[in-house]
Amino acid sequence: MRIEGDNMTSLRSGNRAAALLCLHDENGMSRKRLAEKLGLTPAAITKIVSELISEGLVTEGGFMPGRGAGRREIGLSLNARKKCALGVFFGLGEAILSATWMDGELIFSEKVELPLKADAEKEIRKISGRLMDLAEQNSIPRSIMIGLGIALRGVISRDRKTAVSSYGTFSAENYPICEQFEKHTGLKTVLSNNVRSMLAAQLFLSYDPHVESRFFMRCDSGIGGALSVGRSVRQGDNMQCSEIGHIPVEAAGGKPCHCGKTGCLETISSPAYMLEEAKRILDPERTPLLWKSAEEKKPDEIDIYDVLNAARGGDEGACSVIDRGVTYLSEALKSLVYMIDPGSVILYGGIFDHPYYMSRLSAGVETGMDSTHSVALEKSRFNGELEKLSAPLLAVSQFMESGGKII
Ligand SMILES: [Zn+2]
Repeated sequence: MRIEGDNMTSLRSGNRAAALLCLHDENGMSRKRLAEKLGLTPAAITKIVSELISEGLVTEGGFMPGRGAGRREIGLSLNARKKCALGVFFGLGEAILSATWMDGELIFSEKVELPLKADAEKEIRKISGRLMDLAEQNSIPRSIMIGLGIALRGVISRDRKTAVSSYGTFSAENYPICEQFEKHTGLKTVLSNNVRSMLAAQLFLSYDPHVESRFFMRCDSGIGGALSVGRSVRQGDNMQCSEIGHIPVEAAGGKPCHCGKTGCLETISSPAYMLEEAKRILDPERTPLLWKSAEEKKPDEIDIYDVLNAARGGDEGACSVIDRGVTYLSEALKSLVYMIDPGSVILYGGIFDHPYYMSRLSAGVETGMDSTHSVALEKSRFNGELEKLSAPLLAVSQFMESGGKII
């Protein structure tokens, strides 16, 4: 959204939205500074701020440094504890139920198991009931809830109400998911693709206006991507921006993917598929170090970090699996950097904390790149947190962008 004010009264809610977002981004400021920042007259800012204070969304108190020696101005802050939002983040075989305050601080979260290709109606009724129970246990009254955010795998409709295809989360397609959640919770509900919601949360929690575009890539069971320009997360003309994991990279004979195609990038490069492939070739001759790990644990308990550790130790089979995955992913990232020239590439997922994997990926991305196109790969500082925060923050963002109104 824009973060500039306008003095026309018809844009009052836009000015309220800009003020709320500015106070959130800057962690508070004086009236004078807020007026300067938004380009509003002192009279206009006084009116907006008085309204927001009377509604309890903004508080005043304390002093901020002012211009000139010894000058201090009364500070304004977002009253983040005035309202809260609830959320449900759908992953593969699980859903994370959570709530946050308006500044993104987590109130609670709980992971629940979900069958694959679930019966949407049955699961939504169950999840809604559990979510409202958790809110009650955490002493959150209905009156302070501003809405519910749903973050879902796959393709959603342009009006952000319907799950067009949830890539196997639900059996039904074109499912009116918001309508169902609203029916069971009574809360205004907003829907987003799960990875796009994570990038939106990353921007909400740490917006740097000096970076124009960002590409966010999550590697977990699959590989998801999202692209932002300014504060805006691109949806794409077909609501599929930026499905990097589903780029077809094997024309024939590829593995089946959750999206319904075969040979997608994530069937070679995602942690889940690399682990599956390493287990498939597990053998004392071909993967001696991984075999040793499997003997110390049970073969079913080896994870992607065992495969990475074996590869780091020189295990030929493990190396071949990781190298293949890294090579394909690096090529996709390089194409993306040449195509969109992002200011930053943000990596999200536990695998990026593994030094061997990161060194291989960085080397893969640098290979063949000229210096004018090099881009720093940056690990998200919210690694492991956005699954809990991103869904409720969809509702928080909608509330702020509506000028502090539930619409
Ligand atoms: Zn796919």
